[in-house]
Amino acid sequence: MLLGISTGSIWRCSESRLGSVHLVEEKFGGLIDGIELCFIEWNEFSEFELDERAKRFLGQLRFVSLHAPCSGIEYGNNRKTKQAFGKIKEINKAVALRHVTFHPNHVRDFSALRKTGLRCLIENLSDGETRKGWQFPAELKAFLKKEKWLGLCYDVNHGLSNGVEPKEFLEKLGSRIECVHLNATERAGEARHHLLVQSSAAVVEKIVPVLALGKPLIIEANLEKEQIPLIGKEISFARKAAENPV
Ligand SMILES: [Zn+2]
Repeated sequence: MLLGISTGSIWRCSESRLGSVHLVEEKFGGLIDGIELCFIEWNEFSEFELDERAKRFLGQLRFVSLHAPCSGIEYGNNRKTKQAFGKIKEINKAVALRHVTFHPNHVRDFSALRKTGLRCLIENLSDGETRKGWQFPAELKAFLKKEKWLGLCYDVNHGLSNGVEPKEFLEKLGSRIECVHLNATERAGEARHHLLVQSSAAVVEKIVPVLALGKPLIIEANLEKEQIPLIGKEISFARKAAENPV
């Protein structure tokens, strides 16, 4: 299995997005196969630069992915999109990105993504006025059927928060899923990203089949500093559960 951490899990725990790459290295460098460089705001992304230390760390991992910013930018035929892809390609040159994930509700023109030649994925989203059409397996499947060049990043929490269980996502979209945002939530309507080790046995049982999917699993939760050690527990749990699927 390939198991990684999104820097978005601990962005609150360091002063910068680069700092969170260093923090993942310090705490979990020897335990993970990959990392997702997570960006939300355009400004923090436009200012981001990898340093030599981060390049060395990322260079020895088995995969590096990037979550493209989804606030302050609309992807299409515009100057900001060109600037964003300039930066993504620069990062790609330094660390060979496995894929780049987008929130599809911020893409006005998908051909702008296709033209880059990068492996692009869209993520299933949680509920919200601007996210309609990007939440449920049937609508995502219909879109991906038209856009065969795109893949799917399956966010477990977003699915559960819409009341859709992993089993249904895997059945309907399993062949299009290229990575998983591994996280959980206890109930529909609740989109805060929890770890599996923070969740009830009933929720974990629903998620366990995802661990055996054979695609990169990226731990993506909302954690505070004192919760960082829980990531170590999550890594052991995911590895064990993937070895012994029910
Ligand atoms: Zn996600």
